[in-house]
Amino acid sequence: MSAPKTLFQKIADKEVSARLVHEDALCVAFHDISPQAPVHVLIVPRKPIPRVAEATAEDQAILGHLLLVAGQLSRELGLVKGFRVVINNGPDGGETVPHLHVHLLGGRALGWPPG
Ligand code: AMP
Repeated sequence: MSAPKTLFQKIADKEVSARLVHEDALCVAFHDISPQAPVHVLIVPRKPIPRVAEATAEDQAILGHLLLVAGQLSRELGLVKGFRVVINNGPDGGETVPHLHVHLLGGRALGWPPG
C-alpha cells in the first residue's frame, strides 16, 4: 500500500489549491500561505523526499533543480536587491511540513542570524 499523500503532494497534484508560480516535471512552486516576507515562495519537489537529511545520491538532480528554479523565480519575481533560500530540517530547524521544500524569501532586508 502506498503512503498517504503529503500536503505538498496534494498541492502539486492540484487536490489542494495554492497560488502556483511555477511547475515543471520535477517541482512546483507556490506562494506560502503565511508569508514571512513580501515574497515568500515554496519550491517543492514532486517526489516526496521528507527532508534534506533523507535525500540520497539518487536525488542529486532534483536538489540541484530546486536551486536553479529559486534563481529563476528570483528574477521573475523581481528580487533584484537580493533574497534568501532556506531549507528547514527537523524540529530544531523549524520544519513543520515533512516534505522537502525550499523557501524563497525576498522583498525586504532579511536579518542575520535568523531566529
Ligand atoms: P517549514 O516550517 O519549513 O516546514 O515550512 C512549511 C511552510 O508551509 C510554512 O511556511 C507554512 O506557512 C507553509 N504552508 C503550510 N500549509 C500551506 C498551504 N496549504 N499552502 C501554502 N503554504 C503552506
